[in-house]
Amino acid sequence: MTSYDPSNIFAKILRGEIPSHKVYEDEHVVAILDIMPQQPGHTLVVPKLASRNLLDADPAVLGAAIVAVQRLARAVKAAFAADGVIINQFNESAAGQTVFHLHFHVIPRHDDIPMKHHARGFAPAEDLAAAAAKIRAALAAT
Ligand code: 5GP
Repeated sequence: MTSYDPSNIFAKILRGEIPSHKVYEDEHVVAILDIMPQQPGHTLVVPKLASRNLLDADPAVLGAAIVAVQRLARAVKAAFAADGVIINQFNESAAGQTVFHLHFHVIPRHDDIPMKHHARGFAPAEDLAAAAAKIRAALAAT
């Protein structure tokens, strides 16, 4: 497998080199909004410890990450009054991965609203800021 490249975009976000709409942070992960959301509220849970994806991740990181994914899934579902939540996680280009630092997609789903394509179409910054505020409020309420 190709080795981890610390110049990837999520590593830069974790180092504070580029901005993001952060909705959650703990010792092990940050959760940020996807800038090309497939639905409003599309959130990425990003472990702080570097790995390219699930295949090379430290198993100790995965437990903390999935607990955070559950927490964000509940908050996103509540914040957007969603009917369901998709959790996606891609490993290598062949599987659809485009940013090579482990992350989990948390995407609210509504029964009658089709989901947009993956990683296509930037959302306006004000929409992301509004979505982030909703998710932070939902997290604070739990
Ligand atoms: P992957 O295809 O690797 O599973 O997902 C990477 C995700 O990162 C995509 O959904 C894409 O929209 C998102 N993304 C790409 N560049 C940036 C960025 O600079 N900031 C944020 N917050 N998300 C990004």
